[in-house]
Formats: sequence, structure tokens, C-alpha cells
Amino acid sequence: MSISEKATLSNIKSNIKTDVKTSNGMIRPGSFRVVAGPCTVESHEQFAASAKAVKQAGYEYIRGGAFKPRTSPYSFQGLGEEGLTILSDVSKNLGLKAVTEILDPGDIELVMEHAQILQIGTRNMANFALLKRVGAAIARTDHGVILKRGFSATVEEWLLAAEYITNAGGDNVVLCERGIRTFETSTRFTLDLSAVIVAKRLTDLPVIVDPSHAAGRRDLVIPLSKASVAAEADGLIVESHHEPQEALCDAEQALPIEALLSLREVLQPFASAMGREVI
Ligand code: PEP
Ligand code: MN
Repeated sequence: MSISEKATLSNIKSNIKTDVKTSNGMIRPGSFRVVAGPCTVESHEQFAASAKAVKQAGYEYIRGGAFKPRTSPYSFQGLGEEGLTILSDVSKNLGLKAVTEILDPGDIELVMEHAQILQIGTRNMANFALLKRVGAAIARTDHGVILKRGFSATVEEWLLAAEYITNAGGDNVVLCERGIRTFETSTRFTLDLSAVIVAKRLTDLPVIVDPSHAAGRRDLVIPLSKASVAAEADGLIVESHHEPQEALCDAEQALPIEALLSLREVLQPFASAMGREVI
């Protein structure tokens, strides 16, 4: 990394102020934000049932993918525009804000009509054309972006990717650590909690954790969520499903409704120790 790039990174720390990073209300000082919901919008019935549980658990943000970046072209690719319509209908009905992934720069306006927060996935972290287009599109709007860390990206590469968005005018960027590729095979990826702490030292951008994709198995999601609170994360994005075994995508890592309903109670003592409230 060049010296000028280092200077840019330190500028993020000094220039991005609290009011910028909280202007769309997603991340608030003193709070620990939980975003929950299914990996993918599969049908109206499935998304409505999963969304009801998110609402019942008291969370304000729901996730659900309509455009899915699948490793195999033969896997379910998401419902596309139909999925976006289900996402916005159901979330608006329940008074929830929606988070969904954007894959194609040509879909940005469409996705913004249906969702408050655009997610840029791990496989697109270095898609600089997409980052710039999203940054320009969300500038001076209430929309935000969750930028996942590439699973083989260094922290510096991740922060510089965020700067493509902020330099294009998009201030509401939330970084998300979602696990990296290592030699370990007992988990799907390896959750790099040190990266959360390092990123928070280098920037003022909020950092959340995705324990679901990191672990790839539901039994680790709650322990890793507790660890994320202790690692100074600003929140979580977790996968949940009303019938986890039946999920069309990422079935092994989805939390069932009972676990989602207990998550707040489980996390609050840890959050209190860090001076935060789970929201
Ligand atoms: C997802 O959130 O469903 C997803 C595909 O995440 P990631 O980009 O981290 O793999
Ligand atoms: Mn998923």
C-alpha cells in the first residue's frame, strides 16, 4: 500500500463523523444492531413467516436475498424482481427495513425501490465498478450499504473498497466481517474477529459481523454472536428461517425461530458489559 493510500485510510478515521455513519439510523451509538432473516426470499409464504419471527423478536431490519451469487450456476439463483416485490411488500407491512444484495449495477435503482440497505457480497467486494455506482446512487439518500469483506481480502483491501463507495458520495457504509478462507475445515469460513477490532481502529465506519456465513453451521452462530459483541462490533447480520431444514439456500446455518427469539436475551448481558443495547 502506498503512503498516499495510508493517508486516505487515516482520513476515513478523521473525516467521517458520527452523524454521517448514523444518518440512516441503521447504526446508532450505544446500540448493537441485529439484522435477521432468511438467506433468500423463496416465496411469499416463506418470507412472510420468517419476517413475522423477526418482527416478534423485536428487530427492525430484515434481510432476504433476491439476487443470489451462487457458486454453482445450477443452484437456485433467487427470485429476482419477484423476490424484491415480496421483500418490500412483507417488510413494509410489518414496518421493517429491508436489506438485500445487489449483484448487477443495472439493478441498483430497482433494488433501491425495494430495500433500504444494499448489501455488497463477499464475491463482489472488489467489483470496483459496482462499488462506485452504488456509492453514487446512495449519495444524499437515506439508503445505506453493507460491504462484506472479500473472503480472501486483507483489512486494507476491504477498507479501500469502502473508499470507492465513500469517494463516490455514499456515506452510509457499514463494514461486515463474514469469515475468511483458511485451512480450517470444521467451519465454512474462519471468523476473523481481530479484523473487526483492526478495522474499527482504522476507520470510523461501523463494523458488523455475519456469524452465519462464517460458521456455516447454526450451532456456532450464537457463541460467535457473543464473541462479536465482545470484539466491539456494532451489530450482526444473521440468517434465520421458519423452517431451517427446508431452506433453499444455506439451510445448515439458519437459526430456527426459537433461537432467533432468544438471541436478544442471550446477547444483552454481553452488550450491557460493552455499554450497548441490543436493537
Ligand atoms: C448472504 O448474505 O447471503 C451472502 C451470500 O453473503 P456473503 O456474500 O458473505 O457470502
Ligand atoms: Mn446465505
